[in-house]
Formats: sequence, C-alpha cells, structure tokens
Amino acid sequence: MSKAPRTPDSRLVDAVDAKPCAVCGRPALDAYRPFCSKRCADVDLNRWLGEHYRIPTDEPAAGDPEDNGGYS
Ligand SMILES: [Zn+2]
Repeated sequence: MSKAPRTPDSRLVDAVDAKPCAVCGRPALDAYRPFCSKRCADVDLNRWLGEHYRIPTDEPAAGDPEDNGGYS
C-alpha cells in the first residue's frame, strides 16, 4: 500500500482567509467573491439596482409551507 501525500489545499486556506460575505457574513467562496453564494451575490446586485425587485430565492413564499423543501 502506498500513501499518496496530500498537500494542503491552498484554496481552502484562501477561502478561510477571505473577507466575509458582504451580505450574510459567512466566508466568501472564490467562485462568488466577495460573496458566499450566488444567492448573496444576487441579493447584493438587487440592492444596487434598487429595492424594486423581489428575489424569489431569498424568502419562502408566505402561505406555502411546502416550499421549503431542501432549504435549511
Ligand atoms: Zn452570503
């Protein structure tokens, strides 16, 4: 058996060291910097565009309890 040497993933270190998400404060992902997710990027984008737009993925539809499946 041979143990393959695994080098530390520098991307993980970079992610931890990155600025927190400007929207929710969680560590930002490199793919969505400076945000942690596309959702937060969309939230910030909509803030820039104005409060006119609703973000369908941001809030569960009121009065629809079955709409939160898979969202924790
Ligand atoms: Zn976020």
